Amino acid sequence: MTGVITQSTGALYTVKTDNNIFHCTARGKLRLEGFKSTNPIAVGDIVDFEPINEQEGVITNIHERRNCIIRKASNLSKKSHVIAANIDKAIFIFTLRNPVTTTVFMDRYLVAAEAYNIPVIIVFNKIDIYTKEEIEQVAELMAVYSDIGYKVIGTSIITGFNLDEIKAELNNSVCVLGGHSGVGKSSLLNAIVPGLNLKTAEISEAHLSGKHITTYAKMIKLNENTFVIDTPGIRGFGIVDLKKEEIYHYFKEIFKISHNCKYNNCQHINEPGCAVKKAVNSGEVYWTRYKSYLNIYFDDDEKHRHKEV
Ligand code: GDP
Ligand code: ZN
Repeated sequence: MTGVITQSTGALYTVKTDNNIFHCTARGKLRLEGFKSTNPIAVGDIVDFEPINEQEGVITNIHERRNCIIRKASNLSKKSHVIAANIDKAIFIFTLRNPVTTTVFMDRYLVAAEAYNIPVIIVFNKIDIYTKEEIEQVAELMAVYSDIGYKVIGTSIITGFNLDEIKAELNNSVCVLGGHSGVGKSSLLNAIVPGLNLKTAEISEAHLSGKHITTYAKMIKLNENTFVIDTPGIRGFGIVDLKKEEIYHYFKEIFKISHNCKYNNCQHINEPGCAVKKAVNSGEVYWTRYKSYLNIYFDDDEKHRHKEV
């Protein structure tokens, strides 16, 4: 039989077929094949399985993935972690504070999605709590990312502001939700799925400890053609599987401008005639985007030992 993984808790997988749900384990050989990943089978994967009874089975084959969002399992790990597979779009939730989302963290997520051509909608949430100055900062970021070509939505899940826009984005697709713990992922799902009642938690500004954290990714069905994958809030986003010299391809606006660089192997660090650096100086490329590019380009595990971004 064939089904889709809707939840995975380590060694146990929930597989949904058209009419049923099976709790499955994976055949040992499959786990070995995915040894570079901490989770060889991810939420969103299409799998073949042999039923043992009406509720249980063994996964025997994983279909090739159309795409996935993948990151380093942890800072120092050589292994990767597949956040979700076979998705139509990603919704990344940004909050300026409570918790702070850095542009580097967001850009790392955007690069990982861009590498597989997964469109990302950026939701700037909690606009009800920002001061006038903070609103200006958020508006500037929204303009920057909108100019780059991302769809941006300013929201307050608490007041319901622009919730309908998010609903419209979700409709008829498989979406993955991303962002730090505490940005409002569970609140968003609770607001749009009647009766879901996911746990949400107050967060403290100083630290996020004590906060209930969704531990496993989970696919939630909103209607016949609409699925949302809720993912655990993550602190860091290490980029995997990208060639260093190709990283700038996934910064859309930098890639566009790079065609004007003097050398076609320009890495935009300090080469002469670099159009990208010129555009950063003139403000045409936003400086935090270039900073994020350098941050990923010069990424090494040592440097990030104490600093997860
Ligand atoms: P998650 O970890 O991403 O699932 O975040 P939660 O949904 O648990 O939200 C964390 C906290 O932020 C909860 O106390 C929510 O009530 C609060 N929250 C979520 N969205 C908003 C918002 O738009 N405005 C305000 N003021 N609080 C929000
Ligand atoms: Zn250049």
